[in-house]
Amino acid sequence: MAGRNHLSIPGPTNVPHEILSAMHVPMEDHRSPDFPKLFKPVLEELKKVFRTETGQAFVFPATGTAGWEIALTNTLNSGDKVIIYRFGQFGHLWMSMAKRLGFDVEVHEVEWGKGIPVDHLEARLKEDSNHEIKAVLATHNETATGVTSDIAGVRAAMDASSHPALLFVDGVSSIASLEFKMDDWGVDASISGSQKGFMLPAGAAILAFSQKALAMTKTSTYPRCFLDLGDQMAQNANGYTPYTPSTPMIHGLKKSLELLLGEGMENVYARHHRLGEGCRLAIAAWGLKLCAHEGFESDTVSAVVVPEDKDASEVIATAYNKYNISLGAGLTELAGKVFRIGHIGDMNDVSMLGAIAGVEMALLDCGYDIQAGSGVGAAIEYYRSTAG
Ligand SMILES: *Cc1c(COP(=O)(O)O)cnc(C)c1O
Repeated sequence: MAGRNHLSIPGPTNVPHEILSAMHVPMEDHRSPDFPKLFKPVLEELKKVFRTETGQAFVFPATGTAGWEIALTNTLNSGDKVIIYRFGQFGHLWMSMAKRLGFDVEVHEVEWGKGIPVDHLEARLKEDSNHEIKAVLATHNETATGVTSDIAGVRAAMDASSHPALLFVDGVSSIASLEFKMDDWGVDASISGSQKGFMLPAGAAILAFSQKALAMTKTSTYPRCFLDLGDQMAQNANGYTPYTPSTPMIHGLKKSLELLLGEGMENVYARHHRLGEGCRLAIAAWGLKLCAHEGFESDTVSAVVVPEDKDASEVIATAYNKYNISLGAGLTELAGKVFRIGHIGDMNDVSMLGAIAGVEMALLDCGYDIQAGSGVGAAIEYYRSTAG
């Protein structure tokens, strides 16, 4: 099929040509005197994306999943109690990892479509007067349901209960695209990956830790080796890494930071809000509903619920086979019930309209009772009237 595949999934996201070009470099000596000139500024600049001045940024040759593990195993001790709310597949996987790694996981089920119930968290933390809970695991943007939780609210709940637990935030599909304020929100571990808001190929866990969390790496006796923060810190101090880094990835990340910080983080957030809003207007024009309840809508991904007599995988297959556009599938509990439209990363009004048009054609082909052009029309009006 001529033309490119349109990647409208919430990760991996489209890699801008500037980044692809920046990554197209010969292999180089990562122990050379020149390597720190590349790597040290990248670690410094990263802090601006996490919005931290006091924290420290890290890049591991891994993925977001390793970020969860790095946070858990570097700061806690085996058997420590952690609390998590389960309202989507990514939170589910983090919970299951914490269990498999031998932590005492307190899970609270929340309807898929809602986010972290901060009032419940506050009450629970107040009740925990012996401070048995050592960490709160918070999924900022649940990519499976298109739900964004209120992390400032989570911090407020922790402060209101004067609870000393660490706050770990999975920001894999929010950091570098949705507002994220590590210092203001008192986040102790900010976890991201390269292939979403950073617009890079998969292959890097991109993280930041607070000084409080870093101090706890000294007392944590949890066994760790490849994912040890101490080894990274010792080498990063001189601009090196404990083992061979993916140097093309570092070059790509340098360019990604130039693009993001050049646009300005506030503008990046505003752009994602507009992309998401246009998509939501199109979905409403089709008469379809989001999985996300009101107030939890994500600006990086929309999970669209199909009527009960329909199978969402048919829409996804039609979109891919007939129109060469990739949409996100419903994961586990949502399989067949939703399809997901990513609006994250290197996207603008017109690429978003392409995605919306592709979905609209697939919906028509699958017998949905919608008017051709209705979703596209709604998004066009919104994008035109709000274009800068
Ligand atoms: C993509 C994603 C992950 C998993 O990241 P991998 O890079 O696939 O390991 C974790 N959490 C969220 C919220 C995600 O969107």
